[in-house]
Amino acid sequence: MTEPTALADHAWRPDRFMLIVAHPDDADFGPAGTAARWIDAGSEGWLVCCTSGDQGGEDPDADPLELAAVREAEQRTAAAIIGYAGITFLHQPDGALANDLPLREHLVREIRTFRPDAVLATDPDTLFYKGGGINHTDHRAAGLAAVDAVYPAARNPMAFPSLARSGLAAHRVRRMYLFWSDRADTWVDVGATLDRKIDALRAHASQIHDPDALATRIRSWAAEEGAAIGAEAAEALRVIVIDDDQDEGPE
Ligand SMILES: [Zn+2]
Repeated sequence: MTEPTALADHAWRPDRFMLIVAHPDDADFGPAGTAARWIDAGSEGWLVCCTSGDQGGEDPDADPLELAAVREAEQRTAAAIIGYAGITFLHQPDGALANDLPLREHLVREIRTFRPDAVLATDPDTLFYKGGGINHTDHRAAGLAAVDAVYPAARNPMAFPSLARSGLAAHRVRRMYLFWSDRADTWVDVGATLDRKIDALRAHASQIHDPDALATRIRSWAAEEGAAIGAEAAEALRVIVIDDDQDEGPE
């Protein structure tokens, strides 16, 4: 018989973190409560949206560029509510995001510029959700692109040498936090920031048709995750430690 592992609120906090997502609104449906909590405690966060969500509508006659502009504005409002230091939109095609070398170079440039200790991204291992449903191809591509950019490319001075030549030195990201994972092993108490997450979600007005129903759903998911650690609300994450805190390593 082994003792059950006592789960507790996750205490480690990065000084700097970067959230890499496929679409505007992914960050806010994802670990926005964790991001807000870390920012409140003194962390600096940066958001990278690979696409601007130009296919996120139901009208085939809609102008994708107009929709992209609306969604970028919505994401900027939401990001201000959470408190990120800034956002980069990479303007990749919605629905056709590919984990290719050009995307990896974009992400390495972002990582080497902001120099985060931790990168948060969608879990690329999630193809089908446990409770039903299929994980969007862009979420899988963005998650895998984030992993491949973090390791080894961002830390390898010989990867994308033009970046190093333009002054962006190699950078070691020490941890990844993967969300929408069915292998969560870490729970962050977001009781103090859940309201802000819901406010941030409301900013995505083009995507959200019944904000009150959504708020109820978000609260109930957070309560389910919170039960794991005896908290009223939590976000569940899968943590990949690349460098232990004891490993200094070259910066
Ligand atoms: Zn999405």
